[in-house]
Amino acid sequence: MSNLQAITQQLFDLSGKVAAITGAARGIGAQTARTLASAGAAVAVLDVSASGEELAAEIVAAGGKAYFWKLDVTQEAEVQRVFAEIVARFGRLDALVNNAGIEGANVPTHQMSLEQWRAVMDVNVTGVFLCTKYAIPALQQAGGGSVVNVSSMYGLVGGPDVPAYHASKGAVRLMAKTDAMLYAAQDIRANSVHPGFIRTPLLEEAFQKLGDPELIFGQMKQMVPIGKIGDPQDIAAGILYLVSPAGRYVTGTELVIDGGYTAR
Ligand code: NAP
Repeated sequence: MSNLQAITQQLFDLSGKVAAITGAARGIGAQTARTLASAGAAVAVLDVSASGEELAAEIVAAGGKAYFWKLDVTQEAEVQRVFAEIVARFGRLDALVNNAGIEGANVPTHQMSLEQWRAVMDVNVTGVFLCTKYAIPALQQAGGGSVVNVSSMYGLVGGPDVPAYHASKGAVRLMAKTDAMLYAAQDIRANSVHPGFIRTPLLEEAFQKLGDPELIFGQMKQMVPIGKIGDPQDIAAGILYLVSPAGRYVTGTELVIDGGYTAR
């Protein structure tokens, strides 16, 4: 290998590192797990859905290191147990990707029930708090690490729908900034990623309820300056940057990956 190739390889080398990814059974989380594993990390695939088992098997079959834990991020005792088991199994933890999220009820604020509001906040905000809470001691023990909160472009700008979802995505943006300040001296970095429209089961299911998903994806494309719907790999690439040596001087920032939507 030439010296020039070595530069790129070292920037994105996660050999010997361990990364935990929530909501990793499908969509952005699954592609992030594949991507971090391809950079050499052992990945803890965490999801409330048992299909995460298949993803872990796929990564292992492809020569990577992975293990699946069924985890509901809203359950504190489960989160505490699973993070202890990750460290016991892999020996350390270097990165946490807080990716699990739900869209919740699409009703205007004045028609939303408290239960609907709490359901979204529970997964999208409390889940991020709990996983970060139990990951930080392990990151401290590892001598540093990286936390990535998967927010949304709707954690930066408003939208005329899903009010609880947008509020939750604003919250995790600021949680990353606070954690960045709290743990910077221990070399633990915390950042948020802000996807635009990404083609995943989350959006496909939401559009199925509204009618023809292809028609809606077509309309959405026209709202994006780059003229395309994003792919989970576009977000996984940004997360790889933030957790790898390439991002070692980056903390408390927002990585917007939205095809230019919020640039207007
Ligand atoms: P997705 O396809 O729905 O995948 C999310 C995964 O999280 C699913 O496997 C889901 O399991 C799991 N999950 C839900 N509740 C959970 C809980 N309580 N504990 C653990 N896992 C849970 O979603 P995605 O589109 O990949 O989105 C991933 C993240 O990106 C989310 O935070 C989302 O808000 C954010 N994001 C997505 C887009 C987009 O356009 N797709 C845009 C901006 C931001 P079940 O299937 O069993 O519910």
